[in-house]
Amino acid sequence: MNKPLANTLRSGPDGRGRFGDYGGRFVAETLMPCVLELEAAWEAARADPAWRTELDGYLKSYIGRPSPLWHAQRLSAQLGGAKIYFKRDELNHTGSHKANNCMGQILLARRMGKTRIIAETGAGSHGVATATVCALFGLPCTIYMGTTDIERQQPNVFRMKLLGAEVKPVKSGAGTLKDAMNEALRDWVANVRDTYYLIGTVAGPHPYPAMVRDLQSIIGEEARAQMLEAEGRLPDAAVASVGGGSNAIGLFHAFLDDPDVRLIGVEAAGRGLDTHEHAAALSGGRPGVLHGNRTYLLQTDDGQIEEAHSISAGLDYPGVGPEHAWLHDIGRVEYVAATDDEVVAAFQLCTRAEGIIPALEPAHALAHVVKLAPTMPKDGIILMNLCGRGDKDMATVARHLGVAL
Ligand SMILES: *Cc1c(COP(=O)(O)O)cnc(C)c1O
Repeated sequence: MNKPLANTLRSGPDGRGRFGDYGGRFVAETLMPCVLELEAAWEAARADPAWRTELDGYLKSYIGRPSPLWHAQRLSAQLGGAKIYFKRDELNHTGSHKANNCMGQILLARRMGKTRIIAETGAGSHGVATATVCALFGLPCTIYMGTTDIERQQPNVFRMKLLGAEVKPVKSGAGTLKDAMNEALRDWVANVRDTYYLIGTVAGPHPYPAMVRDLQSIIGEEARAQMLEAEGRLPDAAVASVGGGSNAIGLFHAFLDDPDVRLIGVEAAGRGLDTHEHAAALSGGRPGVLHGNRTYLLQTDDGQIEEAHSISAGLDYPGVGPEHAWLHDIGRVEYVAATDDEVVAAFQLCTRAEGIIPALEPAHALAHVVKLAPTMPKDGIILMNLCGRGDKDMATVARHLGVAL
């Protein structure tokens, strides 16, 4: 007998780690035992109430959850349309949503008896969050980072080193996030007995996209309850920036089965979708296989992965999580894009109107909110994930505005 169709969009992936045609585990035979061991350990941990209680304790006392919901009144008034609410995940320890994922995975690594942690990083936010939880638990930590990124993200490189991490430069390719992830996967195959690979977004082979989503879903679960408390109803739209897609799916997942809530993911249009200088895998890419899963990728006509460009290094990834690829194709989530110029304008608007300096990544979500809010009535509600703070972006914004620091 055929199984009845599930009446939920929240139950994926299937047993093979697929979201529709996307995801899976396209890995070398040598890596297969690693991902199977990880999947079994993750299934056991998430079903263990004692483990969940331990994680909740660290999220509360170390990371600072729950993060508040903020009604951005001056911004709403200035845009002259819907009420805008920020989910303030920039207030987490280390300054972004990355900490939610790192805390969950480090506790999993400890439960698995792993004694060495490796990770990839692009802008350095995930590297810093990983080095932070490694310092907390006294675990040695190696961060792979492309040489181009090391050069443009010096403050985060220094932070990682202060926290005790070894930062390994990756020269191959363009020396960016894609290349760092390749190196980390290589290290994992060679050292799997004692090493845990802590991936920073909803990418990689199954179970990473599902596991990172589950760990980030706390964003939307909190926001959903906070929204009901503040307004007595759900928002009309929820908006988040999309790099690999972890903060976006973290916000969206709790709302996937609420058809009246529009879900909107905002990719980086960089210098424009009609140039090759953007990072919009869903708006400007097509399906292929990278880093162990099938998803939308920026690629040339003959299938070479193209370099991504965005003003925010955190969105500079040529792929996107496979669950987003599926949600894109079935039409449950709309994916749009914002250019560098729109992003810097939104960044400045938020800073002056709300006294909050956002990271350039959530400023992409904000750039879309700036377009969307005025088209909605005054009793409309937009929920936006303010997933990171802008301290790390001062030099980039100054350069874009032609200001010397
Ligand atoms: C890393 C990062 C992103 C991009 O990653 P996602 O997995 O798409 O969330 C977005 N915002 C901030 C603040 C980040 O640090």
